[in-house]
Amino acid sequence: MGITLPQNIQSRPVTVVGGGTLGSRIALMFTTQGGKVRLYDPSEEARQHAVDFVAENSADTVALVDGGVAGSLETGDDLAEALKGSWLAVEAVPEHLDLKKKVFGQLDELSENDTILASNSSSYPTSSMIDNVATPERVVNMHFYMPPAVRVVELMSDGQTDQRVLDLLLDTLPGYGLYPFEAYKQSTGFIFNRIWAAIKRECLSVVAEGVSTPQDVDRIWELALGTGPGPFRLMDQVGLDVVLDIENHYAKERPGLPEGPRKLLRRYVDEGRLGVKSGRGFYDDYRDN
Ligand code: NAD
Repeated sequence: MGITLPQNIQSRPVTVVGGGTLGSRIALMFTTQGGKVRLYDPSEEARQHAVDFVAENSADTVALVDGGVAGSLETGDDLAEALKGSWLAVEAVPEHLDLKKKVFGQLDELSENDTILASNSSSYPTSSMIDNVATPERVVNMHFYMPPAVRVVELMSDGQTDQRVLDLLLDTLPGYGLYPFEAYKQSTGFIFNRIWAAIKRECLSVVAEGVSTPQDVDRIWELALGTGPGPFRLMDQVGLDVVLDIENHYAKERPGLPEGPRKLLRRYVDEGRLGVKSGRGFYDDYRDN
């Protein structure tokens, strides 16, 4: 059965489901063309934080977008209300598969028949979230990085996504100052996270084998590529526990990956050296941050 694509999208709202770190940033990007964004989050604190974040960053972000005009943000704790009339719903709830499955069931049931249902999940393909969805053809992975600083968006089918949904998003998202790219096959880590995972893994191997130190690798990186900070500084910023979870996820899917990187990360995590958030990681100089 074919799905109906949303029409008149310029005059219809976008709904963001989950307004934490990424949800508030996604909402910000969709308020750059004068339209309405609705953000649903059960937490009042998260909703307030999102309102403050959008207000603080709106002018600078609108200025990044060709022909940008500040739109409006409404927040609430009623999902059905938040979805009324929307052409697109973007899920950005915590990274727990059971929660994602539940939320996608609700989105399928409560949204308009033509609403595109997207997930911002970093590690789960939407193919794993659609058990309770009657129309998987309108579901898609839509993976943001850290907008407005990084405005790349990776799009990926759930295996049954209507290609017209992907094409519509590829056409429409640049209007919001975003740079969409399609992953042409299902891929854990989409395009760039997967490449970045390989870079991190080899850097960790080099240190785990005693070939070099985090500080020297970062310095070489900066001198060779002319960009900084290097991979070890960046891993400290993300959190070494999170980096370890990500690597464990890849290792589960791809038997044969070297164990050295995970062992090295495990040692740091067991010592409470989680990076910036614990004051120490590969570097020791975060105590005053
Ligand atoms: P977060 O914890 O900052 O925010 C999650 C929000 O979801 C919270 O405000 C919470 O109150 C809300 N929430 C909880 N249950 C909900 C429900 N049933 N319905 C609606 N909202 C609910 O998480 P985050 O870092 O923004 O991550 C969200 C998603 O984005 C995850 O799938 C993650 O993989 C993905 N992502 C995160 C990053 C990142 O750097 N943080 C980058 C790209 C993608």
